[in-house]
Amino acid sequence: MTDFSQRVTPGVQGLKPYEPGKPLSELEREYGITQAIKLASNENPLGPSPRAVAAAQVALSEVHRYPDGNGFALKQALAQKFNWLPTQISLGNGSNDVLEFIARAFLGPGCNAVFSQYAFAVYAIVTQAAGAASKIVPALPKNASQPYGHDGQALAATIDEHTRVVFIANPNNPTGTWMSVTELEHLLKRIPADVIVVIDEAYAEYIQTPDYPDTSRWLTTYPNLIVAHTFSKAYGLAGLRVGYAVASPEITHLINRVRQPFNVNSVALAAAEAALNDNVHLSRSIDVNRAGLKQLGDGLNSLGLFFIPSQGNFLCFQVTPPPRVVYEQLLRLGVIIRPVDNYGLKEFLRVSVGTQAENKRFLTSLAEVLQS
Ligand SMILES: *Cc1c(COP(=O)(O)O)cnc(C)c1O
Repeated sequence: MTDFSQRVTPGVQGLKPYEPGKPLSELEREYGITQAIKLASNENPLGPSPRAVAAAQVALSEVHRYPDGNGFALKQALAQKFNWLPTQISLGNGSNDVLEFIARAFLGPGCNAVFSQYAFAVYAIVTQAAGAASKIVPALPKNASQPYGHDGQALAATIDEHTRVVFIANPNNPTGTWMSVTELEHLLKRIPADVIVVIDEAYAEYIQTPDYPDTSRWLTTYPNLIVAHTFSKAYGLAGLRVGYAVASPEITHLINRVRQPFNVNSVALAAAEAALNDNVHLSRSIDVNRAGLKQLGDGLNSLGLFFIPSQGNFLCFQVTPPPRVVYEQLLRLGVIIRPVDNYGLKEFLRVSVGTQAENKRFLTSLAEVLQS
């Protein structure tokens, strides 16, 4: 019998699949629980925009047709809203798809990608799958102003002649840490002009600090920049899978070469366009997140638990008992959050912001688990 594990490419041989948050249906099936809540995948607790749902329903009656492979209408809407050119936008089946195009276009055996310890897990996966090496840069210490955050100096110092891509999540998942205007600009100035810099802004809509860079305005100054965005978080369309990258028309053209022809489906295209124009839903989502972060932060404080200050829609907090035990006991109470030991954050758990009632239930359940 052929051992096919020896036949896959060297990159795939060492690959560990991404670990997603536990789906509600799986918890209910495995534990016989109903009324469980999921605060594990940084999803929008308000659900999708009603306008997006209506647009998706209309699009459903046309699903015998292939989608518009160029995503003309969505690109126009994005270009108009944010003042870009449609030729600067690449659409992906979620922004993870875009991250993969970048890896396939720019990475391969003999070269490397640079990113921070505790950075979003997908960077390591797409780098490895492309057969390139990951150069992982130690994160800032716990007592830094951004505990466990990206260390700009160290990132710059790690780049070598084989580096093709630098991945920066701003803010980062799972830590919620961010890089300020000055820090990021300082880093960009130190990165050679022929190295691609990916700034992953999956949580940009939630940012509360005024000191956050509007990186899409830097594209002319730094033509090596690619900024990634998603409809999965604040726009509430995680299940439909739409994300995009903004870059120079030249880079956009290159990454489009590896994109599958119909990578974003027609229902998703229609829903994303409608969601983009639903500012009411977006600002409600942002308000609920702001209040929820405060509620969770206050609750964790009163339990005496350390958490990493976050600009996202989630908090990473420290527990003394093994986090997997706390996670399991919360599951039994019907509350799904996320272990982050796979990131090397061995004493931490990550909770996504839910509705006020969900946050309260999480905090009550956590208190119960920690007392037992
Ligand atoms: C959630 C997330 C994404 C978005 O993933 P999609 O594929 O768009 O659903 C990208 N980057 C980071 C850092 C994330 O946390």
